[in-house]
Amino acid sequence: MNKINILDESTTNKIAAGEVVERPFSVVKELVENSIDSNADSIVIEIEEGGEKLIKVMDNGAGILPEDLERAFLPHATSKINHIDDLNRIQTMGFRGEALASIASVSKVSMKSRAADNDIGKNITLDAGKIEKIEDIGTNIGTTVVVRELFFNVPARKKFLKSISREFSYISDIITRMALANPEISFKLIHNDKVAMNTFGTGNVVDVIRSVYGKSAAENIVKFEEHGDTASVYGFIGNAELAKGNRNCQSIFVNKRFIKNRMITAAVENAFKSFITVNKHPFFVLFINIYPEFIDVNVHPTKSEIKFMDEREIYKLVFNSVHTALRESLRESFSLEIQEEKPAAFEALDSNILIKEIPRTAESPVFRESVQLPLDLKPEMTSFKAISQKIPDIRIIGQFNKTYIIGEYDGELYLIDQHAAHEKILFERYTDEIRRHDVTVQLLLTPVVLELNNEEYQIYYENIGLFSSMGFKAEEFGQNTICIREVPLILGKPDIKGFFNDVLDNLHKFGSGDAAEVKYNAIAKMACRTAVKAKDNLTDIEMKKLIDELKFIDDPYTCPHGRPTIIKISLNELEKRFKRIQ
Ligand code: ADP
Ligand code: MG
Repeated sequence: MNKINILDESTTNKIAAGEVVERPFSVVKELVENSIDSNADSIVIEIEEGGEKLIKVMDNGAGILPEDLERAFLPHATSKINHIDDLNRIQTMGFRGEALASIASVSKVSMKSRAADNDIGKNITLDAGKIEKIEDIGTNIGTTVVVRELFFNVPARKKFLKSISREFSYISDIITRMALANPEISFKLIHNDKVAMNTFGTGNVVDVIRSVYGKSAAENIVKFEEHGDTASVYGFIGNAELAKGNRNCQSIFVNKRFIKNRMITAAVENAFKSFITVNKHPFFVLFINIYPEFIDVNVHPTKSEIKFMDEREIYKLVFNSVHTALRESLRESFSLEIQEEKPAAFEALDSNILIKEIPRTAESPVFRESVQLPLDLKPEMTSFKAISQKIPDIRIIGQFNKTYIIGEYDGELYLIDQHAAHEKILFERYTDEIRRHDVTVQLLLTPVVLELNNEEYQIYYENIGLFSSMGFKAEEFGQNTICIREVPLILGKPDIKGFFNDVLDNLHKFGSGDAAEVKYNAIAKMACRTAVKAKDNLTDIEMKKLIDELKFIDDPYTCPHGRPTIIKISLNELEKRFKRIQ
């Protein structure tokens, strides 16, 4: 055994810095948070070379008293809490008092500040955490921190930095989020002498959205707002035009702090999907204001995670507010006849989070979206998916081996695997129904009673919400026994017991953290495989119908299991085989 050493302060700071200061963006975040905490209404952030060379944050906030300037760099120096109990009432961004000490230990820092009541300011310079100079200077009220040569003394960390543009994109991302959360503060972000972003501190979130995401974003959003007992939620959600393949344009703020939270994301996306069937992620900016006693922010040092005391309540609040706003806006813009009933769909997805609180005796509810989508949508309605044909109007020649449909179009031969194509169509139809909370079900004439072992029962129980959102209706039927009364229509007339057991087996492979969508996709794949018959004589009309349906699927070329559905052979290729061309 090695002798136990007590680490010196500079080493512990460097270790702490590893946690708090991961890359230039973390420095920017901590410094700007300090500026926000100081009640500044103007913050200018200057970056050089992605932050590696220079990060400068200038604010016009309250400033630091001359006698405190030096102390601000001590570890655990904070003016924001005094006592452990204060942690429950945190209203400021920072509170650990770690940031300045950590940043200073891995860079060359200078900080000048003048507090409101002082005529003169003070400047402090540090190198790798060691104070080099403290002097009086003339300066405006507020604080300016300059961080140069970040990680100059931690080569291992420097090596892990990405390209300048990548590092800067992280920075611009966090400033965007802070600007959204603080519309009353003007933010100016400069990179290598060019202004990258500028907001004007008007106090209006839509102005910030316009400044950072552009004019069209500001024109394609709808406001939502709802108040609960312990929390309020409000924000803006974009229409299909603003939806994206990734979630970069989604922001969640809890008490103004930017956070990531799967449960809230799912609530918004589920509400969005009940109206808009675009297979992308919605744009949204969402604020939750909640009594600090009902959250625990102290989960992770970088504070981007948060725990709610009552996740279910927050989920409902978010889902309802977004759902109502979208419904109202659609009603206004398109005067649609939409039923007034309250949606039940908020309980359907992401069951791994929500299901915990459903009492064991509760009958698993079948969730069907009460708000039906009008099917005859006008084509000019941009909020909805534009239906575009993905494969051409093939002329059907016939069927081969009860397996392949043969057709031609524009000098090319088409071979369609009818089995794979059918599976794909069913899969798309079914997952779309699930997303819209509108699964067509069949009532079983004789309910199927299924005895499960402890483990299987546990898996079933953890996924009750998932099953019901997929169109299965089951009830508890004594110890570890369930009685299945309804199954999705898509399933046809399968061996329900066998199918259910396979599904439970499959769910076993997923961690409890896996998203509901991943799970229902896997189950839907199994369902479609069960539903489709391998070899089948098809009439001309059946073949045409199959191809017509396939045409409008996003990716008609592969089946849910990734095998091709369509093979195309050009005349050229064919003629080569016949040696007509050499
Ligand atoms: P924390 O923000 O967690 O308190 P920091 O290490 O980030 O810890 O900052 C230490 C202290 O320095 C703060 O509590 C605050 O009193 C002071 N400080 C830092 N930056 C500023 C600023 N821009 N304006 C005013 N005070 C500041
Ligand atoms: Mg701080």
